[in-house]
Amino acid sequence: MKIYLSKILTGLFLIFLILTINKGFANDPLIQFNEPVNKINDGPYIFYENDTLTVQWIKKDKVKTKYLTFNNQKFLNRKFDIQLNTEFLKKVDTSSYSQEYKNVEKIIAISDIHGQYELAVKLLQQHNVIDKKNNWIYGSGHVVFLGDIFDRGDKVTELLWLVYKLEYQAKLQNGMVHYLFGNHEEMVLNNDLRYINSKYLETSKKLEVTYDKLYANNTVIGKWLRTKPLAISINDILFTHAGISPEFIDNGLTQKKVNKIFSEDIIDGDMMKVLKDTLLNFIISTNGPLWYRGYYFNNDFSENILNTILNHLNVNHIVIGHTSLPNITTLYSGKVIGIDSSIKNGDYGEIFIYENGQFFRGTSNGNKIKL
Ligand code: ZN
Repeated sequence: MKIYLSKILTGLFLIFLILTINKGFANDPLIQFNEPVNKINDGPYIFYENDTLTVQWIKKDKVKTKYLTFNNQKFLNRKFDIQLNTEFLKKVDTSSYSQEYKNVEKIIAISDIHGQYELAVKLLQQHNVIDKKNNWIYGSGHVVFLGDIFDRGDKVTELLWLVYKLEYQAKLQNGMVHYLFGNHEEMVLNNDLRYINSKYLETSKKLEVTYDKLYANNTVIGKWLRTKPLAISINDILFTHAGISPEFIDNGLTQKKVNKIFSEDIIDGDMMKVLKDTLLNFIISTNGPLWYRGYYFNNDFSENILNTILNHLNVNHIVIGHTSLPNITTLYSGKVIGIDSSIKNGDYGEIFIYENGQFFRGTSNGNKIKL
C-alpha cells in the first residue's frame, strides 16, 4: 500500500512538473528567437505639398502613412498632440533676423540635449516650465534651447515636436521659446550623419530617404528649423551655441548679420561655394559661433578681449553651450556662462535660470543654486 501511495505521489508530482514547465514555455513566447527585442517607434515625419500633408511614422518597425489636408488636422491633434501652423507653411519666410528682446522677467536656457528627452523633460518639469503632460506653464517667460538637440541619443524626434508645441503654447501666454542652431543641427541639415543614432539610420531606411531629407524644406520641422537663428539677445545677455570669437568681430559680423547670412546663404547653400567663401566658411568653421571653444582652451584669450566683444555686441553676458562641463559654470567674472552640463550622457543635467536680475543653476532635483 505504501509503495502504491508513493508511486501515485511521484506521478502527481511529475504531472505538476510537466504542467508547470509547459505553462512556463507558454508565458515565454518563442517570439524572442524570431524578432529583435527593440522595435522602432518613431515619428511623425510630416511632408507637405500644396495643401496636402503626408504623415509618416513607424510603429513597432512598421511604416504607417496617412494623407491629410491642411484643413483636417484632427488626426494630428488626437494621435500626436500636434497643432500645425499651416499659415506659416504656406507663406514665404519673412523673418527679420534681428532677434533682440528687452524687459524679459524670467529666462530659462537648456543646451546640448542630444536626444535625451526624459532628462530634458524632467528638468523642464522640475523648474515649472511644463506640467506633467508637458504643456507650457511658464507664462510670459522665455525659454532658450541653445542648440544640439540632434545626434547621439534616440529621442530626437520627440524633442523636436516638444519644442515645436511649446513654441506655439508659449506665444498664447505672451511667453517665447527660442530654438537656436547648434553645430549638430547644421550637420544634419547638410547630410553630415557621423553622429546620428543608429535608430535614425533604420528610420531613414524604412522611409526610403536619406536622414537629411526627413528635415528638407518640404517637411514641417525642416521648414521650421530653417527659420531658427544662430544668435539672439534677451535683456543684456547674448545667447549663441558655442561662442563669439574675436574673429567674429574682425569679420564685421553682428547678431543680425550672422542670422541673415546663415539663413539666406548657408543652410541650403551649395557647400562647395560656402567653403570657398571666406566669410561663409568662417561662420561654420572652428572659430565661428557654432564651434568656438576659445573661452576655455585658448591661452591668448583674456578678459580684455572679452570686454571688446561684449561692447561690440552691446551686451554684458554671453551664454553658451557646446563645450561639455559637469555643471553650469561661470567664466571671466560671470561675463561668460557655459551651460552645457553634459545632459548628453543621460545621467545628470542642469538648466540656466535668470530671475530678478540673478543667475542660477537649476538642478534635475528642482534645486536652484545661485551662480
Ligand atoms: Zn555643439
